[in-house]
Amino acid sequence: MTKRAAVLGLGKSGVSAANLAAKLKYKVFASDSEKKRKIQNLSSAVSVEFDGHTDRVLDNDIIIKSPGIHSDIPILKKAAIKKIPIISELKFALNNSKYKKIIAITGTNGKTTTTDLISKIVKAHFKDSIVCGNIGFPLSDKALKTTKNTIISMELSSYQLEDTPDFHPDISVLLNITPDHIEHHKSMANYIKAKQNILNNQTKNDFAIINYENTLCRKLSAAAKAKKIFFSKKPLKNGVYYNNGSFVFAFGGKTNQINPKINIVGLHNIENILAACAACFCAGIPLKTIEKTISSYKGAAHRIEFVKTIGGVDYYNDSKSTTVDSTRAALESFQNNIVLILGGLDKGFSYTPIKKLIQQKVKALLLIGSAANKIKKDLKGSSPIYDCFNIKKALQKAKAISESGDTVLFSPACASFDQFKNFEERGDIFKALVLKVKKQTR
Ligand code: ADP
Repeated sequence: MTKRAAVLGLGKSGVSAANLAAKLKYKVFASDSEKKRKIQNLSSAVSVEFDGHTDRVLDNDIIIKSPGIHSDIPILKKAAIKKIPIISELKFALNNSKYKKIIAITGTNGKTTTTDLISKIVKAHFKDSIVCGNIGFPLSDKALKTTKNTIISMELSSYQLEDTPDFHPDISVLLNITPDHIEHHKSMANYIKAKQNILNNQTKNDFAIINYENTLCRKLSAAAKAKKIFFSKKPLKNGVYYNNGSFVFAFGGKTNQINPKINIVGLHNIENILAACAACFCAGIPLKTIEKTISSYKGAAHRIEFVKTIGGVDYYNDSKSTTVDSTRAALESFQNNIVLILGGLDKGFSYTPIKKLIQQKVKALLLIGSAANKIKKDLKGSSPIYDCFNIKKALQKAKAISESGDTVLFSPACASFDQFKNFEERGDIFKALVLKVKKQTR
């Protein structure tokens, strides 16, 4: 008999899951809460409803849930009563994948950069590897291409981990945990609990790569059964640490080190590289390969991405900075004389943790987006503040007040959805406008 699958949500993961289910010969019904629109890349075999989830969802053997959807919405409550299995897109994809090893990366900040770097090191050593997850390619897209030799590098958000409590990676990476996504998880405790799912099912044969300097990560790892490998920017007796340009692997009294060329800025990126070193070492990749790949790594777009030097002023696009802590990391990556463009859609957190840094390093604060009033209140007295409303006006102001030697940093600390489709669109617009600044100065 034909199996029937309902897919809830038609974002990127939902579309991929629906397409995978269709390829697996399920009769697929997709249900989306938003208004009717054209869905790109969706298999024509999938039937669709928009504008809410009707009881047609319940007429299926399995429900595959997209990560953004709350598990307590009415249709899922009804499904639970009817005992219809509800699984995440990740779980569905995993059930239909083969692999030799999974390296899974999570944390509040640094996931994409670390996953990107790990996947490149893995690719340099193993013939058969894929990268997937929140990094832009849901596993469902690639599941049917995997083999028993595939090494999967996977970026995981707290949403995906929350939905997949039995997830079991061979190598887990926990980068850091700072406040984020409370609007979805409802409390910091729930957010932490979701992140912890990356460790919960590991056994003593697995590895857990943990940031030694992040107290919360260290605390969470106390209960982990996997072999714990700590990383730190300060020397460790056992673990992987950074020391004066070298990445040192210290285990059982012996040390080895590599000295790669670093092309990405900031101490936070040293943490990301340390995590990648530890994960790839645990995957059995030679240190030479790790060193060579780091030396050629140029970073991911929208993450403290260098755009141009115009009249001696360096312009950087950090549109992916959607939390106060990621803007902290960006500010710490530069010397003084920063013109900071900040703002967007507020995520409900205080901006005061970066007030002191702004006082020390920022010569002007240019505000955009709907969070401007709150930011103004939180950061009053730190640095001259200008209301600019949008990126275009902010760049005009930046050009007017910056001098040779300054850095114009676009690191919003906010979500993008008040003025843009997503952080990529926001960053692309910033970059395009910066390039226009250059034309005007010729
Ligand atoms: P994520 O995928 O977790 O959002 P990214 O690698 O895309 O992380 O980086 C997003 C932003 O977070 C960067 O632009 C940078 O400002 C900041 N960031 C990156 N790595 C770290 C880190 N290890 N700790 C703190 N902030 C970081």
